Parts: sequence; structure tokens; C-alpha cells
Amino acid sequence: MTKPPRPRNWLKDIQSAYDTVVIGSGLAGMTSANLLAKLGHKVLLAEHHYNLGGMATWFKRKGGHIMDISLHGFPCGMIKTLRKYWSKDISNRVIQLKNVRFDNPQFSINTSFDKIDFTHILKERFGILREVIDEFFQTARGMNFYDDIVMTTRELFEKFFPGRTDVWRFLMEPITYANGSTLDDPAITYGIVFSNFMDKGVFTYQGGTDHLIKEMKKELLKNGVDIRTHCMVEKIYVEDKTVQGVRINGQDISCKSVVSNSNIVTTIEQLVGEENFDPEYIKDVKNVRLNNSSCQVYMGIKKGEKIPHVGDLLFSSEADEYCTEKILSKDITSRTFSFYYPEIRPGTDRYSIVSSTNARYKDWANLSEKEYLHDKHHLEQTTLDALDTYVPGIRKKIDHVEASTPNTFKRYTLHPSGTSFGTKFEGLQVSRDLPKQIKGLFHAGSVGIIMSGWLGAANYGVIVANETDKFLRELSPSLVTV
Ligand SMILES: Cc1cc2nc3c(=O)[nH]c(=O)nc-3n(C[C@H](O)[C@H](O)[C@H](O)COP(=O)(O)OP(=O)(O)OC[C@H]3O[C@@H](n4cnc5c(N)ncnc54)[C@H](O)[C@@H]3O)c2cc1C
Repeated sequence: MTKPPRPRNWLKDIQSAYDTVVIGSGLAGMTSANLLAKLGHKVLLAEHHYNLGGMATWFKRKGGHIMDISLHGFPCGMIKTLRKYWSKDISNRVIQLKNVRFDNPQFSINTSFDKIDFTHILKERFGILREVIDEFFQTARGMNFYDDIVMTTRELFEKFFPGRTDVWRFLMEPITYANGSTLDDPAITYGIVFSNFMDKGVFTYQGGTDHLIKEMKKELLKNGVDIRTHCMVEKIYVEDKTVQGVRINGQDISCKSVVSNSNIVTTIEQLVGEENFDPEYIKDVKNVRLNNSSCQVYMGIKKGEKIPHVGDLLFSSEADEYCTEKILSKDITSRTFSFYYPEIRPGTDRYSIVSSTNARYKDWANLSEKEYLHDKHHLEQTTLDALDTYVPGIRKKIDHVEASTPNTFKRYTLHPSGTSFGTKFEGLQVSRDLPKQIKGLFHAGSVGIIMSGWLGAANYGVIVANETDKFLRELSPSLVTV
């Protein structure tokens, strides 16, 4: 009789102590780990999933399909972040998406999604005065986290474009997809993210997420990061309000600091435990609202089959006006299609299409298995119907279709309610205040809408790595600066 294989020990040869344990390999976690290692610290990166990347990930399916989860588009700032904190080769692969499309009952527009083209469209198509457009861009660009602005995005739009729901939709819909923000979130969350995109347009990574994450893994290893997948961090040990270590897959490991890329609320409530924090701080934690989740439909085009160039990103909606309720509704009226042509993965002749919609966890969480499968099937079929308008005969061109729901995002990233974009604005202050509560404990990851998306998460990883480095240097002044 053959013996069953022994379970693999994912912690084999692990060291007993590290300077920093980074919990989670999202873009913030990986960027923090890489920078801390480059600064000379001994870093362990623990990821519960078998792949690195968090939401910046991919999966493969029979028939040679590779599906990207969150590679739809990011602002040009990512080029600098990748060059400075990863490598020149990685940053050189960033390319612009030139054809962004809107199609809805209010307008059909193609744009390069930058300030020059938006100014032109706002003036010529929507008839807005040049002075108003310039002042709007200036106001959005001037917003920053430290401003004491209580204005909502709705009030911002009302001020500049009163009653112009068509203009609101043009300016808001893509940002809702980029970070889950709505008209009722603080205007600064809109202003910062919108201005980042307006700088030069929308960009993507040539080679796909699989290439990017493999390159990042090589860099991490080169810089000495101990990477462990299949490793669930179950506990962060704290004594006298100071980090002592972590428990991973049942094993205790000492560390001087922790950078948690796990959700901010999970980090506080589950990994550390509320009893370790000031009650006033816990009150703030209880008020943190999670952002929404997503549904996606992944469609693989048959080998040898082609699709015409119908745009890189297509914001399509059947709703009369922009409406957060409708965007989140399970009864979908609004979808963002990402078209992946062979240029995205040079050397291949493959196409794929991913449809994304914002979604609420509660609409999917409590279904019976039968209802869940039924609703997923419905999601796939209605998405194919919607896509057929833009790519006629799409059903004949695909040989793979599958959907993900908020349950899927929860399972793979461990974010409560499968939140795709961290938390609403108030989460950012809670994240910033974490090291003031527990010495050596830091959080880096999607939070507060601003620090969300590929650029926000990676940049937050840099900010927090620098703070962690400062903390470690204060503990050991003899550390040599690299
Ligand atoms: C459908 C969708 C589309 C998107 N599209 C875009 C887009 O086009 N452009 C853009 O800029 N952004 C987009 N985003 C958002 C972007 O992908 C995320 O904001 C960003 O990738 C999040 O990075 P993060 O560092 O916050 O970590 P996450 O990606 O959330 O990763 C956290 C990691 O921590 C791990 N983890 C958590 N807890 C533990 C634990 N206890 N032990 C071990 N590991 C743990 C998780 O497994 C995960 O790998 C999209 C997101 C979604 C869901």
C-alpha cells in the first residue's frame, strides 16, 4: 500500500527571528518587503495564497488562457514607482492604453483619458466654458490628504457643473471602477486619484500580471527577502504595547516589527486583538467602513480566433444616469470591459476579455450553493449578452468563461466582505495611527480610497517601509545605512 504524501512544510529552514515580517504579498506588502530588504533589514514575506500579488494576480486555464484580475489600468506615476523601488526593466514595460471608451444612454465617447483630451471633450462635447474646466482641474490637482476639506465629490461637481449629470458621469464612472469611490465620499479622494490619471492617461503592464509578479519575485529574492507562500499569519504577538513576533502555520517566529498588508480591520481585531489597543482607538476602528467588492467575468478567446480592436477599456452602462446604487446592484446595468490584445503579451497571439462590476458582499454571501451557481451562471450569460453589442458573435469566439464574486475575493485575499479597495476614507487615519498604538506595528495596503489601486498601494508600501526602517534604526543605531 502506498503511503499518502507527507504535507509539505512551507516553513522549512525558516529562521527564528527577523527584523520585519511582512504579512501578505499585495503590491503594498511586496514593495515594503523589497525596500526594507534593500535598506539592509532581514525580511520575511508570508503569504497565505500559493501565488504572490494579492489582487494583482492572474490565473491560467486549459486552452492556454491567462486571465488578469486587476490589470485594467493605472496612472503614469506607476512608472516612477516601479523604476525607483523595483527595477528599470520592470518600469520599461509600462505602456499607455490609448483607446478608452464610454458607451451609455447619455453619451458615446472615445478618449485617450488625459487632461488635454478631457479638456477638449468637456469644452466641445459638453459645452463647458474653458475657464470652468481649468479651475476644476486646478481644484482637483490642489487637493491633498492634509487639507481639512469636508466637501463631497457630489458637492464638488455641483459647484463646477451644476445639474450636469452627463458631465458627472464622464468624470466619475471610471474612478468608481478604479477605487470604489462614490459621489458621497470626500472630494479629496476623488481629486487625488482623478488628477493622477489625468497627468498622462491610463497605463498597463506589457507582459501581463504573471510577468510582473515573477519579475518582482526575482527582485525580492535578489535582495534577500525570505518569501513563503502557503503561509497563513495567524497571530501578531504584542507585549507592553510592542511587537514581539508572529505565529505562522502554528509556528512562532520572533520579529522586531511587522508590516501588515492584511486588511487594516482584520489586523487590529483578529491578528493583534482589540485588548491591546486604547479603547478610544478601537472606537475609531469600529467606525471604519469597508469599501465595496467586485464581480468579474473572464472570457478566453479560442486559439486562432481574433477580435477587432474595439477599445482597450470600455465603460459601458445601460443606466440612464450615473447612480451608485445601480453600479453596486446585483441587477447589473454597468460593466467595465478590459480587452487584452496580443500586444499585452507580445509573442502570443492570444486575446482575452475581462468584465468587472462593483458589487456588494451581502448580495452573494448567504446564497445556497444552488442559488450561488445559478446566479454566477446568470452573471456570465448576461455579460456575454452585453459584450455581444461590441463584439458581435462573441459566444462563438470564446472557449472559456467563468465568473468571480465577492466570495471569491474574500477567499483569496482574506479581506472581510471581499472588499476590493480596502476601506472608506476614515480607514486611512486608523492605518496611520497604528504604530502609535503598538511599537513596531505598521500597516500598508489599500485603505482610505487614496492609498488604493496599484499606484496607491505600491506608494503606501514605500511610505510605510521608510517608517519601519526609521523604527528599526532607532532600535539599533549601529545599523549601517545601505
Ligand atoms: C476586480 C478588481 C479590479 C481592479 N482594477 C484595478 C485597476 O485597474 N487599476 C488599479 O490600479 N487597481 C485596481 N484594483 C485594485 C488593486 O488591485 C488593489 O488596490 C491593489 O492590488 C491592492 O494591493 P494591496 O497591497 O492593498 O494588497 P492586496 O492585493 O489586498 O493583498 C493583500 C495580501 O495579503 C494576503 N494576506 C492577508 N492576510 C494574510 C494573512 N493573515 N497571512 C498571510 N497572507 C495574508 C492576501 O492573501 C493578499 O495576497 C482592482 C481590484 C479588483 C478587485
